Amino acid sequence: MNKKIKTIQRHGKTFKDRIYIPAIIEGLKTTIKHLAHNVSDINSVDVLEYPEEQPTDITERYRGLHRLTHREDGTISCVACFMCATACPSACIFIEATQREDGVDEKMPQKFSIDTLECIFCGYCVEACPCDAIRMDTGIFSLIGREREDFLLDKEKLLSFKGAFAQEDSIARK
Ligand code: SF4
Ligand code: SF4
Repeated sequence: MNKKIKTIQRHGKTFKDRIYIPAIIEGLKTTIKHLAHNVSDINSVDVLEYPEEQPTDITERYRGLHRLTHREDGTISCVACFMCATACPSACIFIEATQREDGVDEKMPQKFSIDTLECIFCGYCVEACPCDAIRMDTGIFSLIGREREDFLLDKEKLLSFKGAFAQEDSIARK
């Protein structure tokens, strides 16, 4: 049986593609079109006078600062499995594990910190966690500090943050 083969030109092969100038001109045309539209009708441009005005449209899916969750009995949900640190592309999660002291045969983090200066807020740590122990639902979108240490969120700080949305605050043991 004869099959019809369709050959598709590989993008970037032509002379026009390789000199880049037509593509740059196309991009500039779009920029100038939007600029002209915005200048001609300045009132239609959505502007927030931040920080005097704060955004009010942060949704549940927004990835804000991280927090560590508690279980119903008040203990930390994290079992120091290192899945989040392994999944983190920025290598900005630091965990030191220890054995729990309340008789439960489980680990917990002795130290747990996130360097938000390195974090790219991708959410992979949240996806990787098997215990729902780490979330990015604080709704906090700005972190201000003077020293580098101010941007290092330690275990106590991560545990002190609350969820900003109407989700349960404590996690059932899995
Ligand atoms: S959000 Fe991404 S970069 Fe930030 S700590 Fe989690 S996995 Fe790492
Ligand atoms: S936050 Fe979740 S993934 Fe990270 S160490 Fe704790 S239990 Fe494991």
